[in-house]
Amino acid sequence: MRKLSWVALVVLSGCAIMPAQVIAVRAGRLIDSETAAVLKDQIILIRDGRIEAVGHDLTIPAGAQTIDLSSESVLPGLIDCHTHLADGARDTDPISQFTKTSAQVALESVPNARAMLESGFTTVRDVGVYRALNDIALRDAIRRGYVVGPRMFVAGAYVTITGGAGAATGLAPDIQLPWDLHYGEANSPWEIRQVIRKLAQDGVDLIKILSSGAVLTHGSNPNSQEFTLEELQAAVDEANHFGLRVAAHAHSTVGIKNAIRAGVASVEHATMIDDEGITLAKQHGTYLDMDIYNEECIQEDGRNGNMPKDFLQHDATLGQIQRDNFRKAVQAGVKMSFGTDAGVCPYGTSARQFAFMVKYGMTPLQAIQSATINAAELLGQKSQLGSIKSGKYADLIAVNADPLHDVSVLEHVDFVMKEGKIYRQK
Ligand SMILES: [Zn+2]
Repeated sequence: MRKLSWVALVVLSGCAIMPAQVIAVRAGRLIDSETAAVLKDQIILIRDGRIEAVGHDLTIPAGAQTIDLSSESVLPGLIDCHTHLADGARDTDPISQFTKTSAQVALESVPNARAMLESGFTTVRDVGVYRALNDIALRDAIRRGYVVGPRMFVAGAYVTITGGAGAATGLAPDIQLPWDLHYGEANSPWEIRQVIRKLAQDGVDLIKILSSGAVLTHGSNPNSQEFTLEELQAAVDEANHFGLRVAAHAHSTVGIKNAIRAGVASVEHATMIDDEGITLAKQHGTYLDMDIYNEECIQEDGRNGNMPKDFLQHDATLGQIQRDNFRKAVQAGVKMSFGTDAGVCPYGTSARQFAFMVKYGMTPLQAIQSATINAAELLGQKSQLGSIKSGKYADLIAVNADPLHDVSVLEHVDFVMKEGKIYRQK
């Protein structure tokens, strides 16, 4: 370090104790995602990236920066609980991963993160990446301000059986994969524990395990069971040692029920859930994270010849089954979170799922709650995220119409703030 004069030191430390900039947001309508109340003419005071106070009669401190959203509806920043931001440029065939270096994939992921944030999603739960730990690198680059993107909670790698739904498949058996394309491979309860110990050491925020086959994996059968109940129980137990929650991918009826019985926090897709599975999810308080919009993109890519044929065969009947089961789960009162599998559809279009959630049985408020307060609960972050309350992060979005009347207005946000910083303003 260069020598600094004492004058310079005084000036530098003087800067460090400058009073924090206060921001006052005038909200015409504020949607309280916890109580379902719609509050008129509110002032939100923000200091150091957090909400300090919310109310109708607050005094705006002298010198505060004022943001006028008095003709807008203001909501908490949205949370997508099922994304894949760190897999590089969107490509429908995972074999494209073999044509790029890990650094290429990471740098290609930069615009994915920006698109996600600018479309109103200030937080994501990113549930798996082909090149292991690229998601941790992206999370940390966003946190340090190198890259613009949402706050990320990441899984580090897919915990998967050999050749399973989270494995890099489609290659000849004598092709040697680099370490990061099979980092999460495990084939017994103890191998699962070993993988989870490594991931915890690497600094992941959650564990993603694959309980059934997949639609978008070569050689996979979504109807199959992959890990056994015993293996899934080992995953949940080991993850708990590190304070980590488990998200389980499961399309098949048995795969879903095994995951719920093992105690996972959420079942992803939950496509072929049956009545017993719905009852079990209610009993265990398991979240279902059902990506009911992306069928539109799979079919469109199919029509354009951009989707591998085996993926379309896997998917042939599953889209409608999943949507019908979503309706059943909503009617039964199962906990539902908002997850889109972002990357299947283009990044930045996740909000299109809201209208489908309403079409298949939710009220607009329930759909909004699934992407705010419920998503925050699934992440274990209810004290920090998911509503506009004092003490929480200043994550806000605004739209120029009433999303409780027409939830599709969330597809076009006018304003995005994350931790007190504006990323979009019309
Ligand atoms: Zn996924």
